Amino acid sequence: MQRYRKLRYLESKLPILQRNLEGATAAEILSWAVDTYGDGFIVSTSFQAEGMVILDMLSRITKTARAMTLDTGRLPAETYQMIETVRERYGIAVEVVCPDAGEVESMVASHGPNLFYRETAMRMLCCEIRKSRPLERKLKNMKAWAVGLRREQTESRSETPKVDLEATPVKISPLADWSREQVESYIRQNDVPRHPLYARGYTSIGCAPCTRAVNAGEDERAGRWWWEQDVNKECGIHFTADGRAQRTVDVLLEQVLGNRRA
Ligand code: SF4
Repeated sequence: MQRYRKLRYLESKLPILQRNLEGATAAEILSWAVDTYGDGFIVSTSFQAEGMVILDMLSRITKTARAMTLDTGRLPAETYQMIETVRERYGIAVEVVCPDAGEVESMVASHGPNLFYRETAMRMLCCEIRKSRPLERKLKNMKAWAVGLRREQTESRSETPKVDLEATPVKISPLADWSREQVESYIRQNDVPRHPLYARGYTSIGCAPCTRAVNAGEDERAGRWWWEQDVNKECGIHFTADGRAQRTVDVLLEQVLGNRRA
């Protein structure tokens, strides 16, 4: 009973804490996360500019920062280079999270290795197996995680809270209210390592076959799944697809998992 009362009390304080954190700086939020969650807190990064800013800030706050990355098996060579760069520069041994080999084998056997070019549902299936499911497994053991989402990146990210205390685990986007210029300026001032693909015209970096450099005037995420038009350029990690699209993906996923068990 006492435990129940304590839980209700903490729940009643959540909106206040959430509001206070919304007014905090990125560094203050990261310090709070380290103090509150200790080694139950991890940064998830694909070594894009935002993730590198977070790692740089965090390395000034704690010597025991944890970072993870999703190795989909289709990453560009330059991203593996960044894992080494982070180890050398910050002393952080990035925890590499891989998809379930059996699930990938089953998907590739049914739909081929480059299924994502065929239709959006196939692309989302690939992201589900290579990204979302491994991430879910990893996060089961974490209390909080930080990501590099910024509100101005896309419409779907425009209402990202800095700290989502109701998510499980707690989801922290310390740069939610940062502009691209602020990110660039932090990187210049602090000599933060850059993913080599930025120098080749990329503005967003993901898997090799699904990302290209952008042309002048194109949207920041235009290089992601560039062959798809009028669809949400998200992979399911941060936002789920709308009901109908998600149902199609769920059916495809069931088939892949079923074939794996067969
Ligand atoms: Fe598959 Fe492309 Fe998604 Fe990577 S980004 S998981 S290769 S669909």
